[in-house]
Amino acid sequence: MENILKKYLAYDGMVKVVLVNGTKMVSEARNIHNLSNVTTAALGRTLIMTAIMSSKLKDKDNRITVQIKGDGPIGSIVACGNSNLDIKGYVSVPDVELPLNDIGKLDVAKAVGKGYLNVIKDIGLKEPYIGYSKLVTSEIAEDFAYYFVTSEQTPCAVALGVNISKENKVDMAAGYIIEPLPDCSEDIIDIIESINMNISSVTGLMMDLDNMDDVAKTITGDNNIVCIEELNPSYKCDCSTSRIDKTIIALGKDEAFKILEENNNKIEVNCNFCNKTYKYNKEMVEKLFS
Ligand SMILES: [Zn+2]
Repeated sequence: MENILKKYLAYDGMVKVVLVNGTKMVSEARNIHNLSNVTTAALGRTLIMTAIMSSKLKDKDNRITVQIKGDGPIGSIVACGNSNLDIKGYVSVPDVELPLNDIGKLDVAKAVGKGYLNVIKDIGLKEPYIGYSKLVTSEIAEDFAYYFVTSEQTPCAVALGVNISKENKVDMAAGYIIEPLPDCSEDIIDIIESINMNISSVTGLMMDLDNMDDVAKTITGDNNIVCIEELNPSYKCDCSTSRIDKTIIALGKDEAFKILEENNNKIEVNCNFCNKTYKYNKEMVEKLFS
């Protein structure tokens, strides 16, 4: 099944919802990076949020980078997306294994540790927008909810989840954001808050209901919710030979030839996002600088 991102309006347009099924995308990330279960959950949640945030980008070539930097064993989590909903990401240490937490779930909080998250939005302005907030639980969804309130002044409900089967496959990866608009009434906000306090997992809800529109109705409490857009995010890296050529040229001739000398006349560049290796021999490097 393709990844699906649906945007809705609830309560006569007072509340915006973005709901994502990113199971395929998170499975691909798991395969590309050989992720353990807990790093699949951590990167998967971040990729789903990156897809949600990318769907709010307005213009072609707008891009967003999300970095989560904690002091836990996973190191950094990095994810990028663009207005075409091409999403990619990686973690510094993909093979972290940890015991399940006290409630029997993958211990993302421990893997990530204490730290901060930042968001870099390149929306065609002279300087990119940079937002920053500290991690509050390191479970990622709560951290983004805190980020949206403190950095972007948009209070919202956020849920992100990755479910891994006993056969070690990504069963379901999903998430949503519910954002009341500024003139939304307190009564509606109270309804949404109380519903969301009682939802134990977004992945469970997606698997039980098996229909995204029904999930959107359940999480908002509005049966008249309207779907306004349906999109297909995908895991996609935009690295290319010409882009890596530029990276090598940026090293400068002296540095590039020094690396060649130290590595048996080879330069290998590995793309963090898709794990593809680009190999250069001495002739190729000479050609780049000729
Ligand atoms: Zn790549």
